Amino acid sequence: MRIVYADNNATTPIAPEVFEAMIPYLTREYFNPSSMYEPARRVAQAIRQARQKIARYFGAISENEILFTSCATESNNTAIVGAAKANPQRRHIITTAVEHPAVLEVCKEMQRNGYDVTFLPVDRNGNLNLSEFIKSIRPDTLLVTIMHANNETGVIFPVAELARITKETDPSILFHTDATQSVGKVRIDLSREYRHVDLLSFSGHKLHAPKGIGVLFVRKGTPLRPFMIGGHQESGRRAGTENVPYIVGLARAMELAYENLEEEDRRIKKMRDRLETELLARIPYLEVNGRGAPRLPNTLNLSVHFIEGEAMLFELSDQGICASSGSACTSGSLEPSHVLLAMKVPFTAVHGSIRFSFSRYNTEEDVDRIIEVFPQVVERLRRASPYWDSRRNGPRDEAYTLLQEAGVTEARLPS
Ligand code: PLP
Repeated sequence: MRIVYADNNATTPIAPEVFEAMIPYLTREYFNPSSMYEPARRVAQAIRQARQKIARYFGAISENEILFTSCATESNNTAIVGAAKANPQRRHIITTAVEHPAVLEVCKEMQRNGYDVTFLPVDRNGNLNLSEFIKSIRPDTLLVTIMHANNETGVIFPVAELARITKETDPSILFHTDATQSVGKVRIDLSREYRHVDLLSFSGHKLHAPKGIGVLFVRKGTPLRPFMIGGHQESGRRAGTENVPYIVGLARAMELAYENLEEEDRRIKKMRDRLETELLARIPYLEVNGRGAPRLPNTLNLSVHFIEGEAMLFELSDQGICASSGSACTSGSLEPSHVLLAMKVPFTAVHGSIRFSFSRYNTEEDVDRIIEVFPQVVERLRRASPYWDSRRNGPRDEAYTLLQEAGVTEARLPS
């Protein structure tokens, strides 16, 4: 069976060019870059070149502002905990209710350690309210940590503007963004539009590099204490022997992503938009989460009223289609997605979310296959739903009343 991989926000396949660039450093160039002999210096030079290359894709920033980590989770932990350690007199953090757990859970831990944390809400489209953000800034605010693009919905926050507002209010507040989903999909110039961002995290495996390599951009002069303590690597800012092959691979992946960014984004957006239009035309009671907000070109997050996300995933998986659902199975109970709950997706749909996310390896045939299979899956599952009346292909009257009470306006009425 042909596999349609439409879960690229979870992870991406390694690009063949990336793998090729890594091979020498997985084989003959195995030396520890901290060693003093000539072959080791060669390896240290490869890291330096990778750092320069990555820095270049963020505009005119210095290579020393790029810190290699093991993943975006480590980068986020370093940014938040490191900023707090370096500024112990400030005790307030601003974040949003829709961050990835790699930020959200760290902020909750900071709260348990006595920090005051503001979790900004979002509206029905997933947008932040700017005036609410401005009001949340306080004299004791230490850090603002707000993601660039949401991993579930693809909604893009105006991070450049939020960082500018932060610095205009108080230049000593640090601004961090988790850009794990946007790096490689959006151009980010840290020397111009994004010049007020102090800290930026991302991860290789979302842009066709391997899992196990991440980056934290740390703007020169940013007060930050190390999170990983030990050796002197990364100029004493992140201990641990450098993961040379993966660093080299990440630099190559950045090069590939940014070579044809606009062209690829256009092609991917066209596929995503076609999928969205066709599914909306074929499936009643379907909502596109984040449709009214700026979104990543590759992400389509749908709420299908009256069915469970997990059931859709299993049925799709049986037909070779890999997608993802917003909800996570926690200790046997199905928790709805915190992102969709924050967006006030009605309860008839909050369990029925599904995310398709594309990459440059997806094709129009993949879209055709999803369009062929997914509406049938929805129809089959709805037939088994107590809310659904299959004869009229719409919700039962009680369920329809629930929808109206929940303010669902986009869903089509039963015919
Ligand atoms: N932040 C965002 C927005 C993500 O989407 C992810 C991964 O899904 C992470 C952080 C965590 O990345 P990693 O697996 O590299 O730790």
